[in-house]
Amino acid sequence: MPASEKAPDSKKTLDLEKAPLLLAGLRPRRDEMLQVLAKFVRAESPSDGKAAVDRFGRMVASEWRKLGARVQFVRQRQRGDHLRVVWPAQAFRGRQILVLGHLDTVYGLGTLRHMPYRVAHGRAFGPGVFDMKGGLVIAQFAADALARAGWPSRRRVVFLWTSDEEIGSGTSRALIEREARRSAAVLVLEPASGLDGRLKTQRKGTGRAELIVTGRAAHAGINPQDGVNAIHELTLQIGRIARWNNPQRGVTVSPTVVEGGTRDNVIPAAARAILDLRAQRASDMRDLERRLRALRPILPGAKLEVQGGFSRPPMERRTSAALFTRARALAAAMGFVLDETSTGGGSDGSLTAALRLPTLDGLGAVGEGAHSANESVVVRALPERAALLAALLATL
Ligand SMILES: [Zn+2]
Repeated sequence: MPASEKAPDSKKTLDLEKAPLLLAGLRPRRDEMLQVLAKFVRAESPSDGKAAVDRFGRMVASEWRKLGARVQFVRQRQRGDHLRVVWPAQAFRGRQILVLGHLDTVYGLGTLRHMPYRVAHGRAFGPGVFDMKGGLVIAQFAADALARAGWPSRRRVVFLWTSDEEIGSGTSRALIEREARRSAAVLVLEPASGLDGRLKTQRKGTGRAELIVTGRAAHAGINPQDGVNAIHELTLQIGRIARWNNPQRGVTVSPTVVEGGTRDNVIPAAARAILDLRAQRASDMRDLERRLRALRPILPGAKLEVQGGFSRPPMERRTSAALFTRARALAAAMGFVLDETSTGGGSDGSLTAALRLPTLDGLGAVGEGAHSANESVVVRALPERAALLAALLATL
């Protein structure tokens, strides 16, 4: 566990008068932002398509090189290469700021044919436009705005664009954690919540467990007493687990897939269930994992195996509170209201929050319909979000 660092004092270094200048500089660049967004969305990058993700990564890299950033590819054999962008490129002392984003989307190759990039009614639509190509555009315009304003970041900023966030960050987790340990704060460009652009200051920890029951097959009519009914055992276990739910505390255990049995006259010898696990607090997460490990068979002769557990720890509010206070003050100085919310889903911000690093999530685009045919971003909010990120980078 790294030394935990206190979130920066929100009053000492705030330069609220300068913040509106950033927004004033970015507002006229909205069409420019849209041009880059269109280019990004049209470069499809499904998590499982290495060649496509790499192509998109090279496109993003060339944008950053134009800004004078130092760009490194972290090569991957199966997944797309991760992109590590250091900006400004010159040497800095002390702890850095880490900005997290991802190159991959949940949309398979060819989605553009029936879901083309388009702008209508103040929205930009397209696969991955909101989650999170809009966030990537916001980041590069934020950096550019600071350069143009002659207002350098006080710290080195590392933008880490990973290739596998949408499928659990298997190849990027260690990299994210390594960069996070060098950081004073972590800013995450996941989509904002709601059309008012709320930041995400709490996320539930998420996981997946599997209950595997083995019984004994027998004829359901001739000798049922010789069998051990795996489905019966599984339902008893699920009934017991259902009592662990505590929505008020943010704890849910939901069976999401069940399987079992072979034929309608056979006592089933095998059954399994997949459980979706969520917890708002780290202590509840550990408690749930303990309880799962402690499960024992109920029916005589049944065997029970439990696999899996939590993969992303919860992001607790205390790790984001100070950063949120600062972000809200900067937004207010620029003339807009910023709120916060909690969400049941995990993100890479959960990983850095678990290291007790100040982490602020939901700094990406404002919009709706992530992972759906209706995915869109609010065009008007793009300059605001870029200005907000720029102001954070300049004052942290
Ligand atoms: Zn995302």
